[in-house]
Amino acid sequence: MSEKIPTRDVTPDPVAHHTPQEAVTQHMYASRRHIYVREIKGFFQRLRRVSNWALMLAFFLLPWVPWGDRPAIWFDLPGREFHIFSATFYPQEFMLLSWLLIICAFGLFFITVFAGRVWCGYTCPQSVWTFLFIWVEHRLEGSRNRRIKLDKQPMTTDKLWRKSAKHAIWLLIALATGVTFVGYFTPIRDLVVALPTLEAHGWSYFWVGFFLVFTYLNAGWLREQVCIYMCPYARFQSVMFDRDTLIVSYDTDRGEPRGPRRKSLSHAEAREAGHGDCIDCDLCVQVCPTGIDIRDGLQYECITCAACIDACDSVMDRMGYPRGLIRYTTENALEGKPTHILRPRLMGYLAALVVMIGVFAWAVADRTPLGFDVERDRNRLFQMTRDGRISNAYTLTVRNLDSQPHVYRLEASGLPGLTLDTHEVSVPAGESRQLVIQASVPPEAIDRPSAEIILRLEAQDADIAIERDSRFIGETR
Ligand code: SF4
Ligand code: SF4
Repeated sequence: MSEKIPTRDVTPDPVAHHTPQEAVTQHMYASRRHIYVREIKGFFQRLRRVSNWALMLAFFLLPWVPWGDRPAIWFDLPGREFHIFSATFYPQEFMLLSWLLIICAFGLFFITVFAGRVWCGYTCPQSVWTFLFIWVEHRLEGSRNRRIKLDKQPMTTDKLWRKSAKHAIWLLIALATGVTFVGYFTPIRDLVVALPTLEAHGWSYFWVGFFLVFTYLNAGWLREQVCIYMCPYARFQSVMFDRDTLIVSYDTDRGEPRGPRRKSLSHAEAREAGHGDCIDCDLCVQVCPTGIDIRDGLQYECITCAACIDACDSVMDRMGYPRGLIRYTTENALEGKPTHILRPRLMGYLAALVVMIGVFAWAVADRTPLGFDVERDRNRLFQMTRDGRISNAYTLTVRNLDSQPHVYRLEASGLPGLTLDTHEVSVPAGESRQLVIQASVPPEAIDRPSAEIILRLEAQDADIAIERDSRFIGETR
């Protein structure tokens, strides 16, 4: 197994990076410094934007997609039905959800061992919404330097309208997020009509309000604090890193000694003059949404968004230096050693993932949308009917797990002349029926005190059938 990389806790302190001349006193509980994220363009930021917009569009549009007379995705908690396109799941099938969550967890482990925290940088809702809020901020308050200046200046009409517009748009996005989230649990077309007319359920108002406040605070105010102090994944992900994990890293050998130099110096001349490739422009720090300096080494605050890669590449382009001073790489590659992609831990996660996805797919494909329980009446061993037959009573529970109502045919076998007093049971979609039935046989059919019988339930209008065994008690002659 590969050796783990020790990570260092280099507490983000934007002031220390931005104004190195200031003496900074380190406190145990340092107050938060506002991070003014600088906007940057580049390959990875385009990738991140595509991923962010795709995820947001999926989140906002999915509840509006119809499927027959219901939404395609609808977690109907009061009805205890979970609709996902053509499939309907019920609480009895909770096991499938557990499997799905375990698969997601292993998927995350696998991707973390392989490519570090790409989940955080490209797909985590906290990052996606924070980047959207920063984008709005940038449009209304201007570039990083203008925002710093704006925050320092006293309140003016211009500052007031810019700040008010920003918070109004943030609140609108947060409201849309809250309504959409609740729209996964209540049909959203009804919800958007009922909310403004005060006809929605009280819980709908509560959850819309909760997610409005939650989104506004997390993406607008807390931002990197959520990643650094509140997210448990940030704390344990370094355990999964090894020397072959893809990480965003600064090439110290190439970059040091860092420092400014004349732009007219070519790469070779700068090298000859003893300069490393880092011109100490600070751009990689200014674009970092968590306010860290990647040149300090691998830090758990890094969400692998690659903004510093794009920033540094743009600087390298301007200087005429080769790109990649900050890049996606591995610890082994940085030390000039070979990187092992197919390593035991990664293959172990992959194997576990493939097996679990296979089992899950089989369980879903093999799923019978019918639940059937049989319980023999234990209070009486058996009864004699008026026509001299031996009878046993059973309590049946039939759960229709399909999205259609069904009439089921009930049959019994296992003893000669075995008959039932009930032959049909009709159950609406997603509901359960409980019924007590009598099974009887002629006395000569009994040759032992207890015999196994089979009860079979079969839908009359669909290829759905299920069998359960039980015992038939009688008295031998
Ligand atoms: S952006 Fe590149 S050149 Fe500028 S400080 Fe960061 S590592 Fe150095
Ligand atoms: S160090 Fe680079 S990759 Fe890590 S969070 Fe900051 S900008 Fe993103």
